Amino acid sequence: MVSIACYSQSAASIMIANAHENQVDSLQKVQIDPVCKMKVKANSSKNTIYNKTTYYFCSESCKQKFVAKPTNYVKNK
Ligand SMILES: [Zn+2]
Repeated sequence: MVSIACYSQSAASIMIANAHENQVDSLQKVQIDPVCKMKVKANSSKNTIYNKTTYYFCSESCKQKFVAKPTNYVKNK
């Protein structure tokens, strides 16, 4: 009986761990770095807001290039 109780407890823990993992994945939306076109996670601290849109960058140097001349990377309609 004791071993069965232990088994169900660990199975429940695994289910909680998986649910947590999925939640984290959905929060980390993938964005495209407009400078080098690399995929970056939207929770990156290297981001800037231009034309009411938040852009994310793989590195500080990509962010600097964008900030210096955003029109090079964003097509204005
Ligand atoms: Zn980049």
